[in-house]
Amino acid sequence: MLIMKHHVKNVELTGRADLHMHTTVSDGIATVAAMLDHVAKRGELDVIAITDHDRLEASLWAYAHRDRYPFEIIPGLEVTTRDGHVLALWCTDPIAEGMSLAETCSAIHDQGGVAVLAHPFEPTIAPKASWRYFRQPQVLVESGVDAIEVFNAGAFTPGNNWLAGLVFKNSPLPFVGNSDAHMPASVGTGITHFRGKTADDLRTSLKHGWTAAEGKPWGLTVYLKLSLIMIPKKLNGSLETNAPSARPTLT
Ligand SMILES: [Zn+2]
Ligand SMILES: [Zn+2]
Repeated sequence: MLIMKHHVKNVELTGRADLHMHTTVSDGIATVAAMLDHVAKRGELDVIAITDHDRLEASLWAYAHRDRYPFEIIPGLEVTTRDGHVLALWCTDPIAEGMSLAETCSAIHDQGGVAVLAHPFEPTIAPKASWRYFRQPQVLVESGVDAIEVFNAGAFTPGNNWLAGLVFKNSPLPFVGNSDAHMPASVGTGITHFRGKTADDLRTSLKHGWTAAEGKPWGLTVYLKLSLIMIPKKLNGSLETNAPSARPTLT
């Protein structure tokens, strides 16, 4: 297990969060209920967030049913921006796709949310932006980013997480680690350690930099399993709509 922390001194990080996972509402292969049941069964996480690509249905369903689960749930989504993917945590309203990093962060802050730059050096997502973050890491602070996902267990390109830890070593922004799970088995492969146990504690920790990122990359079998499932889905062109039974009923 790789652990990345900075600025954390004499603070005990007892809480464990995984703030980045997908369901069938975007490109995950399990329903939100299946993901949450799995988290409950594993019993290792104190706080989680369901963050589908640009879609809130599953996350809002999870948040609405949070009393059923023995861990805390933060609502949010993974926003597709011009400058990469941004996790919008504590957000319950949609956020437009395709905006700049700064515009996205300000839209997140407008609804009281927290903006986390996801997998900053995944070159397949927004290569120009990644290059800018590499050359000018201070751009993140200037754009209003609140935390950096320096460990993403699903980051496919080797060295990606290592590079993030290195480039942002001197950044004032707190580090988070997440699984980016697209199936139950991957939940918890990336962890954000924080001070305390609750979602409120996590928010306070992010404000003060009391966090650390930890994780192990998805195994090759996870990628194989996912691609075997995802390729036929894509060929059918039914990525968005193939799981009507999985759609949570919004109340
Ligand atoms: Zn992403
Ligand atoms: Zn993701």
